[in-house]
Amino acid sequence: MDNLINKTFKDFENIPGMGPYERAAEWSAYVADWRSRGHWNYRQMAFSGCGPRVELRLDWGSKRDYVSLVSNDYLGFTQHPKVKAAAIAAIEKYGTGAGASPAIGGHYDFHAEIEREIAAFLGWESALVFTTGYTANSAMLQCLLKKDDLAIFDSAIHASVQEGGLLTNVKTFPHNDLMALEHVLRNSEDKYRTRLVVVDGVYSQDGDLAPLDRIIALCKLYNAMIVVDDAHGTGVIGERGRGVLELYDLLQEVDIITGSFSKTFAHVGGYVVAKPELVEYLKFHSRQHIFSATLPPAAACIPVAIRLVDSEPQWMLQLWENVTYFRNGLVELGLDVGNTQSAIIPVKTGDPLVAAEATKLLLEAGVYANQIGYPAVSKKDARVRQSLMATHTREDLDQVLNAWEWVNSKLKLNKREEYAYDKKEGT
Ligand code: PMP
Repeated sequence: MDNLINKTFKDFENIPGMGPYERAAEWSAYVADWRSRGHWNYRQMAFSGCGPRVELRLDWGSKRDYVSLVSNDYLGFTQHPKVKAAAIAAIEKYGTGAGASPAIGGHYDFHAEIEREIAAFLGWESALVFTTGYTANSAMLQCLLKKDDLAIFDSAIHASVQEGGLLTNVKTFPHNDLMALEHVLRNSEDKYRTRLVVVDGVYSQDGDLAPLDRIIALCKLYNAMIVVDDAHGTGVIGERGRGVLELYDLLQEVDIITGSFSKTFAHVGGYVVAKPELVEYLKFHSRQHIFSATLPPAAACIPVAIRLVDSEPQWMLQLWENVTYFRNGLVELGLDVGNTQSAIIPVKTGDPLVAAEATKLLLEAGVYANQIGYPAVSKKDARVRQSLMATHTREDLDQVLNAWEWVNSKLKLNKREEYAYDKKEGT
């Protein structure tokens, strides 16, 4: 395949006429090309745990300590002594695995406790755990929506929700475009058995929020169901950390809330919060829940992490202090952080190669951040994605801001137009 430099991951998904090993060979050539330019920073190996700093050995270098901006462990709870102690105690009591799927022997009291805690945290009666946040979305939606139904997605929705739409009809509206959403709702009236709108609370690439008050009002007006995936908002947004729905005081006004235990709640797994009858239905009709083993005993740390949001509010306060300080610092440098209102703070470069060069230079300056390109975002929306933690110190953040100042002096990101990706080619 010629001209590898302009290819994206998507170009290797399904190359006509090429079998799996031929496609894999093309892919290897692409990765080698990116590596040769020092632009490959995916899947770098860490030798320390989740945290504000990380020890990495880059593919091309020796081990070194970096400020890490790649973790969604927003409140730093993966390292909290009480959370760790709960996981260790549960392993001592139950061993290491759950041994089966929940329907046939893999349902334990610690699962029931997680379900009770997350439902109560959000002020609901019932919830169901899934092995990942991804399957909470994909499995729940595939279970509820079939060929007579319609799923309506924001265009920036997470991949797990898109997968949830595979068994049903899907219409997508441009990101946060309420007129377009209303258009879809109006034009689909009386044409489907169930119409279900899915939006994120916090969007995982831009870090911006959904205008849930107006979206929920539209869903009620047009008699559509509404699901909010607040994987990045629950635990950190709103005065009590109940997520973006708390900001609008609408926690009880949606049909389903989904989320993840892999971010603020310091472990792995996902949940669907819904009314008891729907939870009962999902337990026995959601294929990934029935046919896949469930969370291991270490998950008993999740209720402890959930309770810490209320009992140790200092972490959330510190996170927001860090977010404000860091975002202001980037804006002062003239960098484009988009509409972020969360702990996910991008720097948009307008060109995937510039994003790659920026992450390479950041690594040189001791900062580990992710480059994001198509298909996660459009090519012209390429960016460096950064997640902040409560446990980043002021020195960590200053090191990153100094690094950005240096990167900016080299790449002139604040004069972005020079670098704007060819809009015609950008997808
Ligand atoms: N929803 C959103 C919005 C996400 O960003 C993610 C993953 N980061 C998920 C769901 C899936 O969560 P998990 O990683 O726990 O599977």
